[in-house]
Amino acid sequence: MGYKEPAPIVDHENPFESMMSRFKIASEALGLDDEVYNVLKSPAKQVTVSLPVTMDDGSIRVFEGHRVIHSTILGPSKGGVRFDPGVNINEVKALAAWMTWKCAVVDIPYGGAKGGVCCNPREMSSGERERLTRAYTQSMIEIFGPDRDIPAPDMGTGPREMAWMMDAYSRTQGMTVNSVVTGKPLVLGGSLGRTEATGRGVMVSALAAMGKLKINPYKATGAVQGFGNVGSYAALLLEERGMKIVAISDISGAYYNKEGIDIQKAITYRENNNGSLEGLEGAEKINGDELLAMEVDVLIPAAMEDVITIKNVADIKARLIVEGANGPTSAKADKIINEKGIIVVPDILANAGGVTVSYFEWVQNRLGYKWTAERVNRRSDRIMKDAFETVYKTSIEYSVPMRIAAYIVAIDKVAKTYKYRGGY
Ligand code: GLU
Repeated sequence: MGYKEPAPIVDHENPFESMMSRFKIASEALGLDDEVYNVLKSPAKQVTVSLPVTMDDGSIRVFEGHRVIHSTILGPSKGGVRFDPGVNINEVKALAAWMTWKCAVVDIPYGGAKGGVCCNPREMSSGERERLTRAYTQSMIEIFGPDRDIPAPDMGTGPREMAWMMDAYSRTQGMTVNSVVTGKPLVLGGSLGRTEATGRGVMVSALAAMGKLKINPYKATGAVQGFGNVGSYAALLLEERGMKIVAISDISGAYYNKEGIDIQKAITYRENNNGSLEGLEGAEKINGDELLAMEVDVLIPAAMEDVITIKNVADIKARLIVEGANGPTSAKADKIINEKGIIVVPDILANAGGVTVSYFEWVQNRLGYKWTAERVNRRSDRIMKDAFETVYKTSIEYSVPMRIAAYIVAIDKVAKTYKYRGGY
């Protein structure tokens, strides 16, 4: 028997397990009874469909699509639709549950859902994406509805796809139903402020947390992982409030400048460069792991699930993590983060600005009235600040990290509502 390499540490969790482990800890802290725990632990409904789509070359490809409704206890279910090659039912289930907790944390009258199609939108033409979006909507016609289940954008989808969904749904109803989907283009009843809403909410929660930690934004540094819709606006709005953003990244790599990256310039560069930061000037190219391990005050993971795991958590040096993405930290990494004394503003709080303005969009559609950008921003900032304070106070009251506190606030709300409504 010679020397044996120690077994590598593997982060075996999938996003659903990560979600469940926090749900369990918070339910125990809250003293949730078994009955309600059992109601909330699995999705209310899950639908998987096969979507045959004619490709531009005349061939037919079959895509797999899902919609998971985790809960409708607080109201119609709400959540985005993801177009990504990594989409699978486990991920969609986790994301749907996170929507339930997210809507409850910011106190908006929605349950949680999520959808996804396993595809690579980057390799598809606009026509192929349109046919896929319409096929998906048609397959979900019994599920979607303005008082039933309301989709929105997520990774790989945006206003363009939402317009097709709204149109596909409306055609089946024989009238325009714009409140069936949010995140639409402005001319179709989209809300002012919706595009930047998630990033704006990240900025508001980052500033609220920095206030508690007595970090002056004018003296603070930040690193943003993921420069899509969420990360780019979070970076821009924090820069406007004094923070020096020293590193940003996208799939092309990470970019670092210790004097700070000019975020508006980076956004413009990305827009003129096919959506990629590749070749960005005025910054040194580093790798993604270096960005996560950077000595900054605030780290903003704004790309996707499971980027901070037990494999790299030991390297993290930021004082504060504000989660722009859904599920960027695996549950196993939580423990080490807490031991290191890093404060985390969790996803279900930090990125809830998007669904909050989605709610405002739905309200405006139903009113047949358009709010000004000032009204949208003022109201969403207020909701985000109030939610932050509630979660912060709960974390002190229960002596738990903010992540568990956010779950406690959410589960408590959903459980109380369930008790009033009752089961069969
Ligand atoms: N996909 C976004 C999220 O994860 C927005 C959902 C919505 O607006 O309904 O929060």
